[in-house]
Amino acid sequence: QFPFGRRLPCDIYWHGVSFHDNNIFSGQVNKFPGMMETVRKITLSRAMRTMQDLFPLEYNFYPRSWILPEELPLFVAEVRVMKDSDPSWKPTFIVKPDGGCQGDGIYLIKDPSDIRLTGSIQSRPAVVQEYICKPLLVDKLKFDIRLYVLLKSLEPLEIYIAKDGLSRFCTEPYQEPTLKNLHQVFMHLTNYSLNIHSENFIHSDSVNTGSKRTFSSILCRLSSRGADVKKLWSDIISLVIKTIIALTPELKVYYQSDIPSGKPGPTCFQILGFDILLMKNLKPMLLEVNANPSMRIEHEQELSPGVFENVPSPVDEEVKVAVIRDTLRLVDPQKKKRKDAQCIYLYLRPLFLFKTVTRCMKDKQHKHHSLKLSLKLKFYLKLGSCPRSEHVPESSESLLDAVPAERPEPDAARSPEAGLPSLCLKQVFPKYAKQFSYLRLVDRVAALFIRFLGVKGTTKLGPTGFRTFIRNCKLSNSNFSMAAVDILYIDITRRWNSMGIDHKESGMCLQAFVEAFFCLAQKKYKSLPLHEQVLSLLEFCECHLAALDEKRLLWGWG
Ligand code: ADP
Repeated sequence: QFPFGRRLPCDIYWHGVSFHDNNIFSGQVNKFPGMMETVRKITLSRAMRTMQDLFPLEYNFYPRSWILPEELPLFVAEVRVMKDSDPSWKPTFIVKPDGGCQGDGIYLIKDPSDIRLTGSIQSRPAVVQEYICKPLLVDKLKFDIRLYVLLKSLEPLEIYIAKDGLSRFCTEPYQEPTLKNLHQVFMHLTNYSLNIHSENFIHSDSVNTGSKRTFSSILCRLSSRGADVKKLWSDIISLVIKTIIALTPELKVYYQSDIPSGKPGPTCFQILGFDILLMKNLKPMLLEVNANPSMRIEHEQELSPGVFENVPSPVDEEVKVAVIRDTLRLVDPQKKKRKDAQCIYLYLRPLFLFKTVTRCMKDKQHKHHSLKLSLKLKFYLKLGSCPRSEHVPESSESLLDAVPAERPEPDAARSPEAGLPSLCLKQVFPKYAKQFSYLRLVDRVAALFIRFLGVKGTTKLGPTGFRTFIRNCKLSNSNFSMAAVDILYIDITRRWNSMGIDHKESGMCLQAFVEAFFCLAQKKYKSLPLHEQVLSLLEFCECHLAALDEKRLLWGWG
């Protein structure tokens, strides 16, 4: 740990909040540049909307959402049309301020006219979303799932999912929303930070009782009631992969801006927290993605009025220690150079991780490590034999088997990690890449965008870059003049910039470029469905660019 900065380059940098250190030229950082911005409620909703436009059936796991204030008229109009076409439809909506967390500022409404417009929406944009009225209940209570996902690499895409997660319970029995109970947060919102203040909140020493439990304990219960938990897991895996596919285009733009290819820089990985709600019919719905999921393994307990103490939380420890331990195992730089290297320099930033590690080391009585690695490497390998992690209850073990079978890590048996519990992180991508690759259209649009960004370090495309894109891809013709190209650029860019998320740079952001690209695709391939129009235009552009590259190579244009 380098609490006051560091001098030597490190193998792994563990930052607390975001990617912020511009002096890293090697090693691996636990944050991607731009992740915080990419998973904000509004940006996530936009990315999901783009994917829903392209692939409506594949992306029906995200509730219908509108962005406020700009889409308020659209929201009002669409709800009116839906109500007119189905008078029995009595929807509820949930309004969530952008950038909020822990249930902050969230409220439920029955009608678009109930949106609180006074001042706050203008200064603090929000997402309004269809409220899922029929969640799965356990013990009559609503709960959500926090799953940990490791984005190990962006290019090539590598995704891992933790086999266990947390279930966070409401503390008032659930009733479908009515005007009378809309404001009852302990009934409708599952946030731990809210429910902990309820007198019904139950701290538990066991992983399958109380207001916070392991997800595997819920699966166990569902399975004993005859539910198809294997299908549920595969739906969850598919939800996670599709969500990350929706996020990667934006992440790649940030990545090339902060870590231009060809220059020395670190690689990145990140643990994300996926919040998922199960509907009564067991369909998982995505609520949100957290760039900084809490890794606390303690909770506060009020010993006497006003006197608090941090006490261990076995449920958090069970799940989170394994996630951090296995993330470190997976990104272990020594795997590649185990033979000659002796030491990992691990740059730990947040104090909680340090506490987690040291407490586990204190707990640890075993002395069976015969590793000749340095103390620092032992430091985290020892986490693996933290006593709690060894006691996976039999029932949940068998449920974990319900997760599609996983091949052991090729070098696991031979490595010094052989004594550790099996990985709690399951690789899902590229493992299931074949099933999902057709969804990666916006990724290809982003690749075009990045190619024409020109000057490294920017995230927005200037008018010249856009014109070059049109020319190089031969998209201009007698029906679509360069003057029309300029008008398209100005129209779309102005509208996106007036929505004002990022005023720092002028020019066309990725989402605006995607909109322009869809527009061009619709113009050129009129009668096809949108995803086929976009695919056709992509192939057209890529083909022209490949020919151009070949020509340049031949003529030595550089
Ligand atoms: P925050 O970041 O403030 O926690 P979330 O999007 O996670 O915001 O919402 C807070 C809680 O509200 C969730 O944990 C969930 O219990 C509930 N919730 C959010 N969106 C929906 C929805 N569309 N339908 C039903 N419940 C929801």
